[in-house]
Amino acid sequence: MVAIRSLTILGATGSIGTSTLDVVARHPERFRVHALTGHRRLELLAEQCVQYRPERAVVPDAEGAARLRRLVGSLPVQIDHGTQALCEVAAEAQIVMAAIVGAAGLPSALAAARAGRQILLANKEALVMGGQLFVDAVARHGATLLPIDSEHNAIFQCLPRGRDTGQSVDGIARVILTASGGPFRDVPLEHLREVTPDQACAHPNWVMGRKISVDSATMMNKGLEVIEARWLFDVAPERIEVLIHPQSVIHSMVSYVDGSVIAQLGNPDMRTPIAYALAYPERIDAGVAALNLAQIGTLRFETPDLKRFPCLRLAQAALVAGGSAPVVLNAANEIAVEAFLSGRIGFLAIAETVDATLSRVAVQYPDSLEHLAEIDQQARGVARALVEVIS
Ligand code: NAD
Ligand code: MG
Repeated sequence: MVAIRSLTILGATGSIGTSTLDVVARHPERFRVHALTGHRRLELLAEQCVQYRPERAVVPDAEGAARLRRLVGSLPVQIDHGTQALCEVAAEAQIVMAAIVGAAGLPSALAAARAGRQILLANKEALVMGGQLFVDAVARHGATLLPIDSEHNAIFQCLPRGRDTGQSVDGIARVILTASGGPFRDVPLEHLREVTPDQACAHPNWVMGRKISVDSATMMNKGLEVIEARWLFDVAPERIEVLIHPQSVIHSMVSYVDGSVIAQLGNPDMRTPIAYALAYPERIDAGVAALNLAQIGTLRFETPDLKRFPCLRLAQAALVAGGSAPVVLNAANEIAVEAFLSGRIGFLAIAETVDATLSRVAVQYPDSLEHLAEIDQQARGVARALVEVIS
């Protein structure tokens, strides 16, 4: 018999959050939902509360809390609001799925680290921003950090067993992150200026939230993942390679100095990395169909074209620049993606905004969450002003 473990899902109403609950529902003997949090889709959060019976639910504000209370009626769930409450529920459960999108997820993910929890990290922006501060908090408080991003989960599975994330591994030549290339891999460059948010969000292989879908179309997602890999696996930037693999069957690889390359394969379904991290170090059913390689037939690979994907180049450069550069990159990207999704700027202006913001904000060396937040706000201000000028 396995011991039942308590689970908080930060961002339960999103793509990763709902996939997590799907896996949890398959294993009621293993997981007890302690808390669920949501931002806008409160009807869905209410349905989730009715089905999974969490002790606590967290929403953004008092109005949302009153609305959720009306939706769930007399259900015995404590409803709170705001960042402080997010940090509390993150610190209380044994397992914390950090699946809020963007910088908004950093304080609660860090709270889980400081409480020494098992953190299932989907919110890559937290690690991109937090960097050394985040991995130091994990190490100092004896937390366990397990990657949910499919590439990093794959790399973790390709490393010698028993290694924690954050520890360097001898004998690694390169870490190879695969990328589908998104919906615009083959679109003629002159058409990119005109593409719409819906076209950018129509990912060929994965169904995801809108922000990460746009990041996949610009390949900023892969750029953020390069930075994420640097912190998760303590590898030098020059050892992190990006390889386009349109089928998304190989989720990533580790190349060792003896010539071995170890890859993790599977159908593109986030329930695989989620189940792996939920049950780690065991394996549980994730509801994912078996991989049929004969049916897939061919796996293809190509080198990314940095002219087509300037965001990837900007992220790689920000990692090398170090200090606050990744914070600025991430903040500017969030502002630019939001502006693109709301129709205020064109697709190509995303990279232009990020580039211009990076060149306007000097590199600093933040040593606290407060300082990180200040730089984040400063970069957002610069990016917003740039968006105003173009839109
Ligand atoms: P999503 O937009 O579908 O869901 C985001 C969740 O965060 C929702 O529950 C929403 O209510 C909550 N949220 C949004 N803004 C918030 C705020 N300001 N405060 C508190 N909560 C807020 O996004 P997603 O696709 O599930 O992605 C979540 C994270 O996982 C992102 O960081 C993304 O990069 C990462 N990720 C997602 C996938 C995927 O397949 N979807 C894969 C790898 C990594
Ligand atoms: Mg990924």
